[in-house]
Amino acid sequence: MSAEPVGAGGVATGPDSGRQPIAYCPYCSEETLFPREAGGWECHSCLRAFSVSFLGLVNPGGGGAR
Ligand SMILES: [Zn+2]
Repeated sequence: MSAEPVGAGGVATGPDSGRQPIAYCPYCSEETLFPREAGGWECHSCLRAFSVSFLGLVNPGGGGAR
């Protein structure tokens, strides 16, 4: 178990580089997030593990994106 706190000594965000680390747990809004070796994040407050997926780009103008 060698989980580093978020933001301590470089950004460990997993395979896809350029991704910003998330700052808050989406379930309990705490900042006790730790990156998982297998990818994703784990919250040490509510003990949930989850991942953040990139779904694609949105069109700010809305519509017409076909
Ligand atoms: Zn949480």
